[in-house]
Amino acid sequence: QKAEWAKLKDEPTISADGQHVELAANIGTPKDLAGVLEHGAEGIGLYRTEFLYMGRDTFPTEDEQFDAYSKVLKGMNGKPTVVRTLDIGGDKELTYLDLPKELNPFLGLRAIRLCLEMPDLFRTQLRALLRASVHGNLKIMFPMIATVEEFRQGKAMLAEEKAKLLEVGIAVSDSIEVGIMVEIPSTAVMADVFAKEVDFFSIGTNDLIQYTMAADRMNERVSYLYQPFNPAILRLVKMVIDAAHKEGKWAGMCGEMAGDDIAIPILLGLGLDEFSMSASSVLKARAQISRLSKQEMASHTGHILALSSSQEVEAYVKGIS
Ligand code: PEP
Ligand code: MG
Repeated sequence: QKAEWAKLKDEPTISADGQHVELAANIGTPKDLAGVLEHGAEGIGLYRTEFLYMGRDTFPTEDEQFDAYSKVLKGMNGKPTVVRTLDIGGDKELTYLDLPKELNPFLGLRAIRLCLEMPDLFRTQLRALLRASVHGNLKIMFPMIATVEEFRQGKAMLAEEKAKLLEVGIAVSDSIEVGIMVEIPSTAVMADVFAKEVDFFSIGTNDLIQYTMAADRMNERVSYLYQPFNPAILRLVKMVIDAAHKEGKWAGMCGEMAGDDIAIPILLGLGLDEFSMSASSVLKARAQISRLSKQEMASHTGHILALSSSQEVEAYVKGIS
């Protein structure tokens, strides 16, 4: 099996009926690059930049961030690299950022909400990203977007920082895609509207499941409700993918679900364009997809989405793949 996977390392990901999808990796620091290359990922689908901010006493400077982003972009050698802007709050705290305690941190001032509230912090990161953009194929992604206004504000700040850099003669790539994570149900429901404005979607199922099922992703006592295969989740995923394609945009997934062997046949059938997972899962997923027909999986999606429970979905998919 390992030998079969190794042969696929430098190959693109092609389904049994000849359809290409992109298999990308999730990373937390530039140190993870080695694993990405070693496992033959076609890109980075999620660079969680919050780790740059954690385990220290002060915010990382613009130059420190520029170095980290440049390292990753250069290492990827032109392959697509999706960098997510700061996603702090919820379970991820910064000791040096003394924020008021919240009753429900997962529903509180986190990620893009915090960044829009602290524009200096956000703009520093955006400048570092823009300066690094000339070193590779950068795509910028905002986390926890709940409304179109949040996306517009973030994008406007990015445009302002870009204009300021160009004015002082600093080069910035002209082809940076700007997209969002879809991890809040309101955004999945409004995907058709978002799709007119964003360059891409990446579905964050870790949070999308928690918010849709109202089941804390860390709480063991409600883990039975944390159901990736609940048809409610799959229907939201379908809405997002369809909305993207209708506007000629691409849709990826960077939550844990993207690397799950029951999820993969469903997601392939739904038309997901990019699957981003831990690097160590990439070759296994590539081998699995090479044995699956996308068209055949698509012929099952109507039936799957009409099922009534997570258990039924799992049982059905095991029977067809
Ligand atoms: C997600 O929510 O699915 C995701 C990829 O982001 P994180 O796990 O960092 O919240
Ligand atoms: Mg998330």
